[in-house]
Amino acid sequence: MKEKFLGTMYSIKETFYSLQGEGAHTGRPAIFLRFAGCNLWSGREQDRESAICRFCDTDFVGVDGQNGGKFSTATELAEHVNNLWPIDTCFKYVICTGGEPGLQLDEELIEKLKQKGFEVAIETNGTVQLPSNIDWICLSPKGSSEVLLSKVNELKLVFPQDDAPPERFKDIQADVRYLSPKNPFDGSISINQSEATQAAITYCLKNPQWRLCLQTHKILNID
Ligand code: SF4
Repeated sequence: MKEKFLGTMYSIKETFYSLQGEGAHTGRPAIFLRFAGCNLWSGREQDRESAICRFCDTDFVGVDGQNGGKFSTATELAEHVNNLWPIDTCFKYVICTGGEPGLQLDEELIEKLKQKGFEVAIETNGTVQLPSNIDWICLSPKGSSEVLLSKVNELKLVFPQDDAPPERFKDIQADVRYLSPKNPFDGSISINQSEATQAAITYCLKNPQWRLCLQTHKILNID
C-alpha cells in the first residue's frame, strides 16, 4: 500500500464533470478527480524556480476546491465520484489527475471505481510506479525527472522543454505520441501565433510519429 499524502487516505483538491480537452480522448465526457500534491513542485510560487517542474499552471495544493476534501476509504471516494456522474448509465469515465495522482492512487480505489462502472484513466508525470489495473495511462514527462514507466497508452509531452526533448522518450512504448505546445495562453496571444505551437507543428511535420495536441478546453474556455 502506498504512503498516503498528508497522513489521510486520499486528499482531493477538486472533483468535477467536464469534457476531456486534449489528447486521444478529446471531447469525451469525464469526471476529473484531481489529487492534491505533486513530487516535482510544492505548488508554492516561492519554490517554482528551484522546482524540477517549473511551468505548472494547476492549483493542486490543499483540498479546498470544488467538491474537494479528504476521504478515508476507497469506497467513500468512489461513491463521491459516482455521485457527480450525471446519469446512471454506461460510458462512465474518470480521469485521475493532479498534482501527481500516482502518489495516492491505489488498486483498491481503482477497483471500487470499476465496480461503479467507471473506466479509469490517469494523467501522470511518470516518476512513480502505478497500480496495474488502470485502463488508460497518459504519461506527461516533466523536466529532468526520471521516468519509470516504459509502456503507456498515450505519451503527451509539453514542448519545447530544454531538458525533455522528444528524442529522450523514443524507447517508451506508446500507442500515440503528442506534442503539447508550452503556451502561457493568458489571452495575450492566440494559440496559433505562439512560437511553441509553430515549433511543435514543425517538429511533427519532420517527425510524423508525433502529433500536435491542442488544449481545446482552453480554446473553448471551458473547465
Ligand atoms: S508534474 Fe504536473 S502537477 Fe506536478 S508541477 Fe509539473 S505540471 Fe504541475
